[in-house]
Amino acid sequence: MKSSITKNTLKAIYRLLDRVSPLDQDCGQLCGAACCTCGSEINFPDSKGEDDFGIYLLPGEEKMFSRKEEWLGWEKNHAEDYEFPDSWHGTVYFLHCKTAPCCPRENRPLQCRFFPLAPHLDEDDVLHMVYQDSELPYECPLISQEIPLNEDFIRATYTVWKHLIQDPLLYDLVVMDSDFRIEDLGDEIEYLYP
Ligand code: SF4
Ligand code: SF4
Repeated sequence: MKSSITKNTLKAIYRLLDRVSPLDQDCGQLCGAACCTCGSEINFPDSKGEDDFGIYLLPGEEKMFSRKEEWLGWEKNHAEDYEFPDSWHGTVYFLHCKTAPCCPRENRPLQCRFFPLAPHLDEDDVLHMVYQDSELPYECPLISQEIPLNEDFIRATYTVWKHLIQDPLLYDLVVMDSDFRIEDLGDEIEYLYP
């Protein structure tokens, strides 16, 4: 699936997000790296079973990988077979993390870098950051205990999503997730930023 985000832009986004993290400490120590070892459902709740350790790439993000990475296994899925936006057609890539929870931090995919945040577009099409609220097969203490997240992490993630939603495929993904959220939670959606 073609996205308008170039490899250079993705590299810049990876670099920006390399400089931030949800906490100053390794939050994996709080939970045994639950989000790396308890399933693959970050942002794509209907995607895989609990034994599939891995993550979906965003459209076009495959440009960031050589496919020779020994820590990754590649699986091609058809967007039409899963709960993706109607505008998504063709291949979406699912990466199996063969060495989870360990992986080269500087190469981890975008969805791993955003967690536990998710983008949300309100009814006026204004972007906010919210907690990831898909049904997850594990508990993330950052969410359940509302542990304050680093502001630079929140701001950087917001900046990245501001850019990413310029791409029609990613805009449609955020609209789809936001519509579900609005339907479920209405006025109770908690905006973390802005
Ligand atoms: S993001 Fe949440 S679930 Fe993942 S390692 Fe950090 S605290 Fe654990
Ligand atoms: S790529 Fe790394 S950070 Fe992301 S789920 Fe796999 S092991 Fe965890």
